[in-house]
Amino acid sequence: MDSKLVIISAPSGSGKTTIVKHLLDSGLNLSFSVSATTRAKRDNETDGEDYFFLSVQEFKNRIKNNEFVEWEEVYKDLLYGTLKSELERIWAIGKNVIFDVDVKGGISLKNKFGTDAIAIFIMPPSVAELENRLTKRATDTPEKIRIRVDKAKDELKFADQFDTVIVNHQLDKAKEETLKIVSSFIGR
Ligand code: 5GP
Repeated sequence: MDSKLVIISAPSGSGKTTIVKHLLDSGLNLSFSVSATTRAKRDNETDGEDYFFLSVQEFKNRIKNNEFVEWEEVYKDLLYGTLKSELERIWAIGKNVIFDVDVKGGISLKNKFGTDAIAIFIMPPSVAELENRLTKRATDTPEKIRIRVDKAKDELKFADQFDTVIVNHQLDKAKEETLKIVSSFIGR
């Protein structure tokens, strides 16, 4: 297989989305794997671009039909998953795939695709800083932020299962560092 897979995982609020956008704009022939989710669409999101927003019933039907490469209950009662049809779409246009998935999803994808994939963990400088960023972003209620911070604490334990860990002290530096690693992986 010529197409490479770039897996970006990180606790929510680690700067992951910005880093993924930077990679997509960098001429590396990458295409974003649009995940399916049962969470509600945020105001700044577009169905089919950021996610495929599905009802729980639709999502469960797709699990039953074996349409997912991987899926996880990322938060209680909120399902997220990578559709096989997304990979097929991206491979058909001859591009490399980039995933923005949670830590467990990242590990499953890496196990599935082995050396065709690079799994990168974006680490926040500290849990306090993470909480600070989520609060500033203001896309979630305080209760949801607490849930995300608790989950982040748990996710940090899995960092050593990734090929590379990038600590996001300063976003511009983390963007460049990630780009260097991904460029050399894809160029190989
Ligand atoms: P958010 O709700 O902030 O968009 O995403 C919450 C978490 O779900 C993030 O860590 C994101 O990377 C993860 N996520 C998004 N899509 C998928 C997916 O297809 N599979 C898995 N396992 N996690 C996903």
